[in-house]
Amino acid sequence: MKFFDAHNHLQDDRFAGHQSELLAACAEAGVARMVVNGASESDWPQVLALASESKMVLPSFGYHPWYLHERTPDWQRNLEKFLDEMPSAVGEIGLDRWKPGLNYDGQEEVFLAQLGIAAARNLPVSIHCLQAWGRLLELLQRNPRPARGFVLHSFGGAGEMIPVFAKLGAYFSFPGYFLNERKMRQRETFKHVPADRLLVETDAPDQHLPEDKNRFPLVGTNGNLLNHPANLVAVYSGLAEFLGEKPESLAARVEENFRRVFCGL
Ligand SMILES: [Zn+2]
Repeated sequence: MKFFDAHNHLQDDRFAGHQSELLAACAEAGVARMVVNGASESDWPQVLALASESKMVLPSFGYHPWYLHERTPDWQRNLEKFLDEMPSAVGEIGLDRWKPGLNYDGQEEVFLAQLGIAAARNLPVSIHCLQAWGRLLELLQRNPRPARGFVLHSFGGAGEMIPVFAKLGAYFSFPGYFLNERKMRQRETFKHVPADRLLVETDAPDQHLPEDKNRFPLVGTNGNLLNHPANLVAVYSGLAEFLGEKPESLAARVEENFRRVFCGL
């Protein structure tokens, strides 16, 4: 079986330069492709370098709402420059009203600017949304979107919103974190995701799987636990078990969905 990670952050500094080893472990585990999401101008060069190092890496460039305060006056031109060099995907972008102390001012403007760039180039876009689902829906309905579609990463919205987002071109990506017992509600909503819109992700180094499913325990330099990107295989099997679907059939449709939205195939 081949596995496709719709969302991770392999460039993250917490991996402390071990990216090549992580890629080798992923290849051995059967990971075929992974979308590596940049989060700010400062990590876009690392994302680009990883894509040059490994064909497994599908690079994505975007400003995450947590890092908007870091943007330079030239950030949009800078983003276009990276997309000119590697026209693959835009993200991680989004809206966040959950993170304590995070300013919401400016988030919509930066989100829409990036959505517009993705729409104009017809590139898939990866969207982060916490406690802003209604507003995200409004903005997506009122603005140009990439014809290719967009990914709601770690979809945590209400089940009733799934068909509405799907009609606009949404894909819904399932993280290993939702296999935790207390994430029952979010897990349940994935039963309503259309068969051709499901994706799977690790969000590594974040979003830990339950301990008994963590096949690649990894500790960062500061002693914190990190989610290893090769845990993708365990996310697939946990999700297949939860949906009552054969692992082979889940893997086949996720591959098809991944290739359609991210590779235009
Ligand atoms: Zn992310």
